[in-house]
Amino acid sequence: MKKAVVIISALVVALLGALIVYDATLNKTVSESFFAMNTLVSAEVTGISAKEDCEEIENIVSELDIRILSRTSENSEIFRINKNGGGEISGKTAEYFSLLLDVCEKSGGAFDFTLGGVSDLWKFGSNPVIPDEKMLADAVSHSGYEKVSLDGNSVSVSDELIIDFGASGKGIALDEIKNHLESSKTKRAVVAVGGSVLLYGDGEFTVGIRNPEGNSGSYIAKMKTDACCVSTSGSYEQSFEKNGRIYHHIIDPKTGYPSENEVVSVTIVSESGLLSDALSTACFVLGVEKGFGLADEYGAKAVFITKDKKIIPSDGLELEITDNGYTLVSR
Ligand code: ADP
Ligand code: MG
Repeated sequence: MKKAVVIISALVVALLGALIVYDATLNKTVSESFFAMNTLVSAEVTGISAKEDCEEIENIVSELDIRILSRTSENSEIFRINKNGGGEISGKTAEYFSLLLDVCEKSGGAFDFTLGGVSDLWKFGSNPVIPDEKMLADAVSHSGYEKVSLDGNSVSVSDELIIDFGASGKGIALDEIKNHLESSKTKRAVVAVGGSVLLYGDGEFTVGIRNPEGNSGSYIAKMKTDACCVSTSGSYEQSFEKNGRIYHHIIDPKTGYPSENEVVSVTIVSESGLLSDALSTACFVLGVEKGFGLADEYGAKAVFITKDKKIIPSDGLELEITDNGYTLVSR
């Protein structure tokens, strides 16, 4: 009898050990970071297929860039459209065009993915300069989403216009990653593609709202949320100072100059990565009041940070201020 108890106890201990090892494998967390789409991508993935999914995430982002979004890779769909003034595109790319044209229209042109010629003159990302006024006005007159037409899987654009999906590409990458994870064994993942973050899986997530005046690791608020996509556009991202003025990379499509209003950053929370990214740029240009209006139209939530250090969130967001230099103001 005593022997049997010892054997059973030993079996139970062995079984528990095996379960713990099995559970550790199920909940294995793998982190990785790499450079793609001109930005840092970092992923933290938990689940039995974490390692394979991390590798797949890297594939997804680089393939999306090389085959579709890149303006410089000669095999990308955007490169060919810009070179040929349009052409046949994949179903997926047609869908991006359709969704983004809608944001252009609904934002009254505050969001415009045809500003490649304008952005090029500012040389953001390399050696930024203030462009020649006449050349800038010329580039503005050649841009405009109204000059893009989409008919099924065929797109045409006017010759001098340059398509630039820079304000939404990182969000598109999040949607593609989410699609993959939904068919994988991953339980939980946090993937950041530059300033756009995918929060995937069950349970709650906490994200930091970056301090516009601090470095990239400094935050002014914490936000609790369920699975979603979160994108931030801020004037501090890519900026330079000249003659006492600060110039940044989010352009007012009407003037070709950096957008100037009360806003220093906008964070958008949406189920769609594409929308969170595009709307963060659009709402930055629109300012607080019109920006909230646009976010509402898409069922997205927004957090505006203003120059006078106010944090203004949409109703229903769970926000905690962690920097007492900022004031929480309701909408
Ligand atoms: P980031 O690239 O820092 O994440 P955004 O998502 O706000 O920031 O995108 C800014 C980029 O989008 C710019 O670098 C430029 O290529 C392009 N862009 C600038 N202004 C606009 C605009 N009003 N509408 C659409 N795209 C824009
Ligand atoms: Mg954006």
